[in-house]
Amino acid sequence: MPPPRASAPTVTTPGPEVAALRGALRRARGSLARDLPWIGCRDPWSVLVAEVMLQQTSTGRVAQHWEPFLQRFATPAACAASTQSEVVAQWVGLGFNRRAQSLHRAAVVIEQRHGGRVPSTVDELVALPGLGPYSARAVASFAFGRAVGVVDTNAGRVLARAVANARLAPAGAQALADRLVAGVASAPVNQSLLDLGAQFCRARPRCEDCPARAACRWRRAGGPDPARGSAGVTQAQAPFAGSGREMRGALVRALRDGPRSRRTLRARVGAPDGRFEAALVALEREGLIEVAGRQIRLRA
Ligand code: SF4
Repeated sequence: MPPPRASAPTVTTPGPEVAALRGALRRARGSLARDLPWIGCRDPWSVLVAEVMLQQTSTGRVAQHWEPFLQRFATPAACAASTQSEVVAQWVGLGFNRRAQSLHRAAVVIEQRHGGRVPSTVDELVALPGLGPYSARAVASFAFGRAVGVVDTNAGRVLARAVANARLAPAGAQALADRLVAGVASAPVNQSLLDLGAQFCRARPRCEDCPARAACRWRRAGGPDPARGSAGVTQAQAPFAGSGREMRGALVRALRDGPRSRRTLRARVGAPDGRFEAALVALEREGLIEVAGRQIRLRA
């Protein structure tokens, strides 16, 4: 049976609920604020790097890697002047290494088309390699103060539950997010929205402790959780242990310090043949490694 259709934006844009959530976020801003190093940062390249890292990695892990990455590649120019393999090697520990590949390409585009400055509009940002609609809007808001809302999995849950009490289609969720920041400084509101979703309006919500509970439609009305299947709300990732992701990460880590033979590499990662070969094929197909004679190395 097909899933029920997500609601259209015209049905789910009640102004009072948007205003109520915005007020709750403003009042709770201090208590919601998380102690993460990139929050409050306005340097566009630093914000862009953080947003790419955060796409598929937990905040705790990104907090360990963000500053070391920026010490190594402090500007788009520094990143663009490096090889892809150097950027991928610095990315080790964050997983999903294709993001490092895309970030390197984005730095090259910023150098070549934007004079070394991160562009400020959503249209320009979303055209960069590796930046989707959420990341582009996050950079536009947090680095440049553009009046654009953000819809990731945390924001998506809050919008579907607190504002709409309905499952939202992408356009409806984005319209609500944009209304939330209309006429106000967007960065603090967007940040508080993300903070609320990350700490209270989680997959299993903590409604009793939530500072926005008085403004929440779903809490008042009850019923099935509208966040399930709503725009921006992702499912939990498959377990990392024993996955292909784990094997690909181990291979990139083993190649960080230079080329290795297939035999040495296999001994280093200690994998069963099937997983080892599948991970090598995937990394080569993705352009992250290359085979040169008997040697395997990160692609420059
Ligand atoms: S009251 Fe519950 S559902 Fe509503 S915003 Fe807070 S955590 Fe989310």
